[in-house]
Amino acid sequence: MLKVYNVLNRKKEEFVPGDGGNVKMYACGITASGSAHIGHAYQAIIFDVIRSYLEYSGYNVTYVRNYTDVDDKIIIKARELKVDPQQYAEQIMGEIDGQFRELGVMPPTICSRATECISDMISFIQTLIDKGFAYPTEYGDVYYKVDRFPKYGAFSNRLEGSELLSGVRKETEPGKLDDRDFALWKHAGDDEIFWESPWGKGRPGWHIECSTMSMKYLGETLDIHGGGKDLIFPHHENEIAQSEALTGKPFARYWLHNGLVKVNGQKMSKSLGNGILLKDLLDNYVGDVIKITLLMNSYRSDVNIMDGIFDSNEAKIYEIYKLFDKVGTLAGGAEQAGTEHADPGKADAEKAVPQPGVSQLSARIENEFREAMDNDFNTSLAVANLFGYSQELAKLVNKNLIGEALDVMNTLKRVYGVLRLLNDRPADVIASIKNKHLKLAGVDKAETDEAFEKWKILKSEKKFDECDIIRNDMAAKGIVFVTERNGGSYWDVRF
Ligand SMILES: [Zn+2]
Repeated sequence: MLKVYNVLNRKKEEFVPGDGGNVKMYACGITASGSAHIGHAYQAIIFDVIRSYLEYSGYNVTYVRNYTDVDDKIIIKARELKVDPQQYAEQIMGEIDGQFRELGVMPPTICSRATECISDMISFIQTLIDKGFAYPTEYGDVYYKVDRFPKYGAFSNRLEGSELLSGVRKETEPGKLDDRDFALWKHAGDDEIFWESPWGKGRPGWHIECSTMSMKYLGETLDIHGGGKDLIFPHHENEIAQSEALTGKPFARYWLHNGLVKVNGQKMSKSLGNGILLKDLLDNYVGDVIKITLLMNSYRSDVNIMDGIFDSNEAKIYEIYKLFDKVGTLAGGAEQAGTEHADPGKADAEKAVPQPGVSQLSARIENEFREAMDNDFNTSLAVANLFGYSQELAKLVNKNLIGEALDVMNTLKRVYGVLRLLNDRPADVIASIKNKHLKLAGVDKAETDEAFEKWKILKSEKKFDECDIIRNDMAAKGIVFVTERNGGSYWDVRF
């Protein structure tokens, strides 16, 4: 039974969607005002994994994520760069989509852009005005009337007046009746991007975008509304106020919030200059290394990225893929090891049919995975378990129990594929990590191959002193020559 921590009621609850097997899920997306950083990646990974686990559990999930492609920050940035704000947002969204693909985050069922739903937002706002929940000002803005919604503040647990103002950017626009009121529509300044509306030229406020887009694609009550915990107030509080004023129905049954990403214990900020951009991570690490580092955490707590954490996880991922490569080779060549890429779930599901007396470990892997994930998506435990299973897999290989090793490997790929892990081609991951380390060492592959061949010849000629010189020379560059128990040898990169 799946239990999730529902922020709405501040407790773990059994997950029961409103419509049987169908789950309607919305997560607040990115404002296209700059490059994606690790915090954006974290949120995208978390909700992709939650969606993926729900699908693995048999639900049919419709997952909507948005892009805010019109916003004050975008306008300011585009002005700095002297480019058109929509073109700028378009370029940023294209970059981020490409980076998410490279990272191995699946696109949502529907990726909604704010500017594609402006007319829906205008009718949403008009209905709120008609119902007395919003008011236009003579300056062409429209505000939500907070005192018309008695529940305001309950979601974020802020019911006192002063608390309701902390975190709210001071609105300077005249015509606002109450400091707590927030903008649904903002009039356009000179030379600013605008849409025509009953209140004049302007653009929507940020909060109304999510209410409108989620309702447009998923209906009046969502099963899951997700986002970062920094969005609880005012963004999610305002989404609830707008949506429930409109429909009179609960807006979302379960609210799930992910923690924030910190770097060496500190919040990422421009002034500290400690932000980590996703593109820089992708230049240095394969997707699995980035994902596993973030999934080692429970999604509700903050992730603390300490120095060296990606390198240490790179070593672990490298070992797992090397093991997979070995199992594939021992089990009969590239076919088993290499065909998983096209359709990992299905192909491996067929391969992983339990065989009597063979798949005890496989059954345990699957059971423990479900147990961890059913407990509010405990990826932290699931990942910790994975490192243990890989050691058990290595033991099977050492004992030459290749049939069982193959079964376990296929189970790991299938089960951890739910976390979007372990489904790259082993040869590709190994080559990528090796090449990176060769580059860091300042040696190229041909040079390394040559040194290795020379070393093998000298070894066969029993010229051990010369062997040692070559080997030490390469070791100083981070390349190791390994001799296996069966007498074979190979070269590898050292971490
Ligand atoms: Zn939102």
